Amino acid sequence: MFKICNYSDDIMSEVHVFNAGPCLLPQQAIDSSIEALKNFKGTGISVLSVSHRSKEWGEVMDEVRANWKELLNIPDTHEVVFLGGGASLQFLYVAMNFLEHKAAYLDTGVWAHKALQQAQGIGEAYALACSADRNYSYIPKGYVIPTDVDYFHITTNNTIYGTEIKEDIDSPVPLVADMSSDIMSRPVDVSKYAMIYGGAQKNVGPAGVVFAIIRKDALGKVSRYIPTMLDYRTHIDKESMFNTPPVFSIFVMNETLKWLKGIGGVEAVNKLDIEKADILYNEIDRNSLFTGTAAKEDRSIMNVCFVMAPGYESLQDEFFAFAKGRGMVGIKGHRSVGGFRASIYNACTKEDVNALAGCMREFEAMKK
Ligand SMILES: *Cc1c(COP(=O)(O)O)cnc(C)c1O
Repeated sequence: MFKICNYSDDIMSEVHVFNAGPCLLPQQAIDSSIEALKNFKGTGISVLSVSHRSKEWGEVMDEVRANWKELLNIPDTHEVVFLGGGASLQFLYVAMNFLEHKAAYLDTGVWAHKALQQAQGIGEAYALACSADRNYSYIPKGYVIPTDVDYFHITTNNTIYGTEIKEDIDSPVPLVADMSSDIMSRPVDVSKYAMIYGGAQKNVGPAGVVFAIIRKDALGKVSRYIPTMLDYRTHIDKESMFNTPPVFSIFVMNETLKWLKGIGGVEAVNKLDIEKADILYNEIDRNSLFTGTAAKEDRSIMNVCFVMAPGYESLQDEFFAFAKGRGMVGIKGHRSVGGFRASIYNACTKEDVNALAGCMREFEAMKK
């Protein structure tokens, strides 16, 4: 739950934000960021104007790296870097840095497909398995990861379709994962991945910064020329400060991670995320007016997708209006799925989720 009056004293209303991204951020992170906008670490300078080469900023960079390492238990074999360009630019980075001869991708949605397409512009890459036959409503099973590829790329959470790979899979080849929309929602065994990356704006911060966790010895294996800015080694060597980093986005991300540590870290938040998802899925399954779109075993704990049940399609606009009147924001499904999508990232509370489930119950009672 989120009170608009925290932002502006003029508007007094309560809204529940389910935006898919940029996401809801914890109030604590927003408050401390507002403070830093005015006066960064007692310097008398706004964080927007502080030199990224200053000692005070250097401390933030050290802290944010340390927080990532602590929260995800990142081993020394890996390094974490922060970049610009969005997760979409990482699709290209990955291929530039890892694709020598051939790469396999799991095609589980729009983002996974875009990642594959970028790799195909660099070299040979193919979809090992694909769930487009049923509008990406499930995660393909039973595929065998080939051993003759440079890497295998997965998208752990399919933000648009509400499907998720909830476990760390075993791969005989370097495993690369886009975790844009479920990073920090569960403990991850980082040692199983050559690389994990994502845009911060789905679960760990504002738009404008990307995280990339890279196993250092997986780099340097391709023969192509890699432009300096697209070479992960540049950013590892320069500790994400080769050029001006997205200072404010990194600051807010760090505040978000501090909040996460304060509530008990990824294990604690995972429990909460599962409880929140269960509340909504239970209501979707119980409520005769609605039906879920993702295969039950693959349901995402971050993006809950549902539509009007067969026979009730004509009530869709009415439910939107009804929910909007009760403060629900951002529940419109992506155009490729339609219906509704509630994105219930870490900062979304149980009250938010209960409010939406309550809305669905009330709407049913009204219509039946
Ligand atoms: C949103 C999203 C992207 C794209 O992120 P940008 O930072 O906007 O480029 C990529 N992958 C997944 C899984 C996403 O949810």
